[in-house]
Amino acid sequence: MQRPIVAGNWKMNGNLGSIATLVDAIEAGTGGLDRVRVVLFPPFVYLPQVSHRLKGTAISLGAQTLSEHTAGAFTGEVSASMLLDFDCSYVLVGHSERRNLSRESDLLVARKFVAARDAGLTPVLCVGESLQEREQGATEAVVARQLRVVLDLAGVQRFEGAVVAYEPVWAIGTGMTATPEQAQEVHAFIRRTLAEDNAGLATSLPILYGGSVRAANAAELLAMPDIDGGLVGGASLDASEFLGIAAAAQRHSEGT
Ligand code: PEP
Repeated sequence: MQRPIVAGNWKMNGNLGSIATLVDAIEAGTGGLDRVRVVLFPPFVYLPQVSHRLKGTAISLGAQTLSEHTAGAFTGEVSASMLLDFDCSYVLVGHSERRNLSRESDLLVARKFVAARDAGLTPVLCVGESLQEREQGATEAVVARQLRVVLDLAGVQRFEGAVVAYEPVWAIGTGMTATPEQAQEVHAFIRRTLAEDNAGLATSLPILYGGSVRAANAAELLAMPDIDGGLVGGASLDASEFLGIAAAAQRHSEGT
């Protein structure tokens, strides 16, 4: 079994003081968790601070988005090479909040995925349906479309070293978690879709679930065969909740 990934997306939260406290608590609490890959996604401006604090630890650092361009007149944007300067190894691509609030299209998400992968970053490609789409029975069609645009632009080989996160939009920040069975169904569908292009790669690709994951529901989600970890929003701002999720992942990985 691959090491499960427990990733914390802090979104636009925190300040110098609270982030120092949070990262210290997470670092102290994950010391013994040798079978979990922990990744933190702070806001851009705190990357130098968190990067400095994580040096020499097993915790990886990621950014919440990146530019599809390498450099130039793109005010407010941050490139992949800038993220590498601060020891980022992961980057979220296509988070639903960016798809919806910043109007990021499937094609832009695909370009960002390519920019990340080509720079040597691990993109965490977020896909997922809205409540309306689920109620219309369109979940698989939406997820297939989101994946297909990236597969067509990037090519399946660029998924080697990438991560996919299934995040039903209706479960993000709402306290409404998908049931383990609902999540498993979509995770298996994602694997089948990628297998159409490369079966071997589809088997080994880590697929995370995101949407109101907490310490109390992490174990049952991680028990599903196609769930390889969690992308955690709200609960990642609370060190004890986040550490509870990481501990559940460690127990799952140890088979205890
Ligand atoms: C997210 O933002 O990726 C997320 C899953 O948020 P939450 O855990 O708060 O639902």
